[in-house]
Amino acid sequence: MKTWIDRLRREHTLAPEAYRRLLATADAQAVDYLHRQAREVAHSKFGNDIYIRGLIEVGNRCRNNCLYCGIRAANTSVARYELTKDEILDSCRKGHELGFRTFVLQGGEKQGCYAKWEDVVSTIRRTYPDCAITLSLGEMEREEYEGLFRAGADRYLLRHETYNAAHYRMLHPETMSREDRLKCLQWLKETGYQTGTGIMVGSPGQTLDHLVEDICFIERFRPQMIGIGPFIPQKDTPFRNWPSGSADLTLRLLSIFRLMFPEALIPATTALSTLLPDGKQKGILAGANVVMPNLSPAACRSSYALYDNKAAEGTEAVEGLALLRKQLDRIGYRISTARGDYRSPTHATDKQANRQESSSEDK
Ligand code: SAM
Repeated sequence: MKTWIDRLRREHTLAPEAYRRLLATADAQAVDYLHRQAREVAHSKFGNDIYIRGLIEVGNRCRNNCLYCGIRAANTSVARYELTKDEILDSCRKGHELGFRTFVLQGGEKQGCYAKWEDVVSTIRRTYPDCAITLSLGEMEREEYEGLFRAGADRYLLRHETYNAAHYRMLHPETMSREDRLKCLQWLKETGYQTGTGIMVGSPGQTLDHLVEDICFIERFRPQMIGIGPFIPQKDTPFRNWPSGSADLTLRLLSIFRLMFPEALIPATTALSTLLPDGKQKGILAGANVVMPNLSPAACRSSYALYDNKAAEGTEAVEGLALLRKQLDRIGYRISTARGDYRSPTHATDKQANRQESSSEDK
């Protein structure tokens, strides 16, 4: 086991069977060693810094019916909301005052909203030129991704959810397709976004072989951001009675991805904190380097009900920033208020550099 972990740290890749064994092993010392190596690698790249992103949940109206998700279109029990441009800008203002230099706009997938997003993104870009804008608004047309990139968005999060075609089919309705999802990810990358993908760990029907397929896909795709969180059931979905995913497996995957991609931006997710009270600390000690406190207007937070008992208090919210500082300090880390862009000489986002150059020439 140790030989494989050392090789993954050195060569950033392993054979599929080795990944499978790392995920399955009952050897606690090996798992400890895996986390320690990942932590050291993260430390060598980011020191003690943990990047913070202000998460703005811009709306929970969604055209999709993903079988695991509490904001699926068919859920009539959730109160629907959609933030206005002013409410989003107000959240940004509040976040900026608190030191946030990345805003993540996440929401349900809707058609016909392109003009609104273009307006919101370009206004945030003009108002906060020192901040990064991350979008997580689901699948769009290529031209729409390109337009939002030109308007000033820097990053895009779109989890592929599962690479296995039969498993994708089990998690999603007929109207959605794995091929569309993968096509969107390719477009995002080609457009020049710092692109994030990822999965839920323990989603219904998921096997270790599926996870190995996910690892191999992510290895080939080379995302700049990797979002890994446990599946957690939601009471109004068809998967309401499935058990939550494993926190232990989530942490192993975080460490594997850290060793695979030393520079990647990897959050300790809210879903992990929902399962484990110290999930954020455990995620960081397994190699994560990003946290995303909730910056949405407090009144909407409970309606962004992706899964049951979603952690929303304390360090999960921007109001808990002082507590977050303390918690991180206790494990030897500190909040960084830098934009925290992905940096690697080999994966430099040249199109972003070009866009920044041309916009400074415009001035
Ligand atoms: N609409 C956008 C999209 O499709 O990417 C962003 C919103 S979507 C709700 C954000 C992520 O929430 C999904 O990619 C999924 O992995 C996660 N999610 C949804 N339901 C979940 C659940 N029951 N447990 C854990 N994560 C869940």
